[in-house]
Amino acid sequence: MVNIHCPICGEKNKFKVRFSEKFEIESLEFVGRKTPDHMHFRVVQCVDCGLVYSNPIIPENKIMQLYRQSQFIEEPQLKNMVADYLGQFEKMQHFIHEKGRLLEIGCADGFFLNKIKKYGFKEVWGIEPSRGAYNNAPSFLQNRIKNTELKEGIFPGEYFDAVCFFQVFDHIVKPNQFLQIVYQYLKKGGILLAIHHDIKSFLPMVLRDKASTYDISHIHLWDKKTMRKILEKNGFEVCCIKNIANRYQLDHVMRMLPLPIFFKKLLRTFLKLTKLSNVSLKLSVENMISVARKK
Ligand SMILES: [Zn+2]
Repeated sequence: MVNIHCPICGEKNKFKVRFSEKFEIESLEFVGRKTPDHMHFRVVQCVDCGLVYSNPIIPENKIMQLYRQSQFIEEPQLKNMVADYLGQFEKMQHFIHEKGRLLEIGCADGFFLNKIKKYGFKEVWGIEPSRGAYNNAPSFLQNRIKNTELKEGIFPGEYFDAVCFFQVFDHIVKPNQFLQIVYQYLKKGGILLAIHHDIKSFLPMVLRDKASTYDISHIHLWDKKTMRKILEKNGFEVCCIKNIANRYQLDHVMRMLPLPIFFKKLLRTFLKLTKLSNVSLKLSVENMISVARKK
């Protein structure tokens, strides 16, 4: 196991323990999306800035290996996710001065890239470490997706007008390094757009570590205050940080809730029989959006 420190406050930071570790080393799952298994590393909180993060964790190279091997799972909830990301993107696109090149980090099989092409960008690009997700991408998108993790040297500097990442930033082991590379790839005045969990939102506040927010793969758990701090630390000017509503299929809600398995099965069967499984609710319970500009 490896000790890490608060990426906002640095090595001198002191922390308090929020939750003791809860995991089995042989069944660690690092994937983009999964059914909650309620496993997490020890969760601590920085006493200075309040950032919630996992510490200690397994080595970063082991985590990256698990992401590379992970499989992409098609699920009905994906439709809702695309609609939500596009909806948020539409509301925020006025911050983007020029629709030249867009990059999505952690693009899975390109489900968002495929839709965003129609929004007038000259070029769209993706980065995705999972081999399975990359292989699942339509062939016309594959030559626009780099099957690797974010690193320097994949693209020229000052190349993109917009860089997006959805449900990715929680998973990043070295957030300062990640943001520095995004900064390099963005043109001056270019826009970063991120959607992910807010650890101070309704679900994690009420369900505590039974919420799917507390997951073995979520290394850093941001809120609006700590997100602003990490963006500003890395030279970005924050345009907007706020909570957002997402659509949830009833079947997905049942799958994510911390209920006994037999009870979940019963409820999901009931939803299926009554044809309510695919009905969606729009709720602001766990996510936030951040938009920031390269100065
Ligand atoms: Zn801190």
